[in-house]
Order: sequence, then C-alpha cells, then structure tokens
Amino acid sequence: MQRADVAMYVAKQRNLGVFAYDPALDSHSPERLSLLGDLRRALTEDELFLLYQPKVSLSTGEVCGAEALVRWNHPSRGLILPDAFIPLAENTGLIGPLTRRVLNLALAQARQWAEQGSPLQVAVNLSARNLLDDRLDALVAELLTAHGVAAHLLKLEVTESAIMTDPVRAKNLLQRLHAQGVAISIDDFGAGYTSLGQLKNLPVTELKIDRSFVMTMESDTSNALIVRSVIELSHNLGLSAVAEGVEGADILATLSGYSCDIAQGYHLSRPLPPDVFDHWRAHWAGVPSLPPAPAVESLEPA
Ligand code: C2E
Ligand code: MG
Ligand code: MG
Repeated sequence: MQRADVAMYVAKQRNLGVFAYDPALDSHSPERLSLLGDLRRALTEDELFLLYQPKVSLSTGEVCGAEALVRWNHPSRGLILPDAFIPLAENTGLIGPLTRRVLNLALAQARQWAEQGSPLQVAVNLSARNLLDDRLDALVAELLTAHGVAAHLLKLEVTESAIMTDPVRAKNLLQRLHAQGVAISIDDFGAGYTSLGQLKNLPVTELKIDRSFVMTMESDTSNALIVRSVIELSHNLGLSAVAEGVEGADILATLSGYSCDIAQGYHLSRPLPPDVFDHWRAHWAGVPSLPPAPAVESLEPA
C-alpha cells in the first residue's frame, strides 16, 4: 500500500494516468530513511533557518519584497539546500510541519521589519502537498494573528505543477487564502503546463518567470522572446511580472526595456541571513544600471 501511494503521488504530480512504482523516487530507501529521521529531528531541534533574497521594483528601484528560502544546518553533513530535502519532506508527512516552521520564521521576520518601521512583504514557497491540505488557509490565518502581521505582508509562491496536482482543490484553497488578503504568486512560470484558461481563473497577482529562461536570455533569442511574451501576458492579465535568476546588468537592462515589473537574482543580491539583508537594504541605492527610460518619471514621490 505504501508503494502504491508513492507511485500514485508521482502520477498525480506528473499528470500521468499511470505510473509504476520506482524505488529511486521512494523516500523509504535506507539512505533516504536516515535523512528522513534527521529531518524529523531538524524540525524539533531548530536546524532549519531562512535566507532572504530581495525583490526589486524596476520602475522605482526600491526593494519591494523578499523571498524566504529555507536551509538546513545539518550537524554532520553541514549546509543542505532545499532541493535535497524538500522532495523528501514532500513524499512523507513532513512537508506540513516544515511549511509551518517556515511560515513561523518568515512571519516573525515580517513582524520585525514592520516594527522597525520598514515593512516588507515576505514570500514563502509552498509545495504541491501543501495545496492538498484543506486546512492550510486556517493555519495561515492563525499564524498571521499569532505574529500580528497584516495579511498583505505575506505572499505565497506556488508552482504550476503544484496547482496541476489537483487543480480544483488548489483553486479553492488559493481563493480562500486570497480572500484573507494573502498575495499569491505563480513560481517558475513557463516550466509547467498551466492552461491559460486556468490561469485567468486563479486568484494570483504575480507571475514569476522561470529562471531557466531569464538566465539564458542573452545567449538564446527564443528564451528572450519567451520572457518578453510572459511579461506581456502578465500585463494583459493585470498581473505583475517578476524575473528570477537575474545574474547580470545587461539582462537587468533588457528586462527593464521589456517593462518587467520586478527583478530578483544574484546580480542584485544573493539570498542573505536577516541581519546581512537589513544591512544590504540600508545601503541599497536603487538599481544602478537602469537606462533612463520614461518610466523613471514615476520615481518621483507622489
Ligand atoms: P524558487 O522558489 O524558484 O527559488 C529561487 C531559487 O533560485 C533559489 O534557490 C535561489 O537561491 C535561486 N536563485 C536566486 N537568484 C538566482 C540567480 O541569479 N541565479 C541562480 N542560478 N539561482 C538563483 P534555492 O534557495 O536553492 O531554492 C530552490 C527551490 O527550493 C526554490 O525554488 C523552491 O522551489 C524550493 N524552496 C526553497 N525554500 C522553500 C520552502 O521554504 N518551502 C518549500 N516548499 N520549497 C522551498
Ligand atoms: Mg519561489
Ligand atoms: Mg522560482
């Protein structure tokens, strides 16, 4: 039954009618089991922590948000990146407690920024499994209240493939979250298979263009075209467009020329611990390499 469950989950995730059990995707193998035991401990022993990566508005040059990215400080293996443990948590019951932990840390940070007089919207990534949890909206409401954080200061990033695991259920849950005032963003847009008809009906405010397109914009003209088209699509749907994976000044200037709303990437800043983030933000003097475009007019305070 356990193996059938593993296979069924993969089938749902990949939108396949049938999927045969594959041990490589099974979190019950000995090596993964040991890491799984460690992850259980990590959640109780506070070994998880968050880094924050700034999102910068290309029209004002201001820092307009921060994405919270989880890290695991493993006592013997050292730093572990999310790609190495999020799938494990997803295929077991641990993604629920992990997401709760991440939300708690991120909202505590959001509260601190608000108290410092410089509120900033914090974005938290959700997994496919989180979207199958009908109580997630109640949990988010409870945590917002517990931390005394206004709902609009929280954004939830969901990928297209996570929505596709169970589109109707995901849409209902996202609508309830949206009704609370929480912002919803589609992450890694372009890498999955959201139908445009579906997109129009989702309560989202932002599309984040998958970094595989953004990072290769200069060398691959078709990817540059995709980026430009997604920016136009976002605007036509009344959404803001975010480019992630911005690694250079030239790409940033091109994105600005395409009227991309927000940029995020190593060129602006790597993901940072909160104290370093605050220091970076205090010294942030706007985007240095933006060409003087008409949009610069809007830099003037109203
Ligand atoms: P994501 O949400 O698409 O996050 C962006 C990833 O791109 C991050 O990797 C970030 O460090 C990286 N990145 C940012 N700027 C650049 C750049 O200029 N160049 C390149 N090459 N990479 C850049 P990270 O932190 O390793 O996270 C990987 C993925 O793990 C995330 O992708 C997200 O899907 C997932 N993740 C991270 N934190 C959480 C979490 O708290 N919960 C869940 N469920 N998933 C998480
Ligand atoms: Mg994300
Ligand atoms: Mg992404």
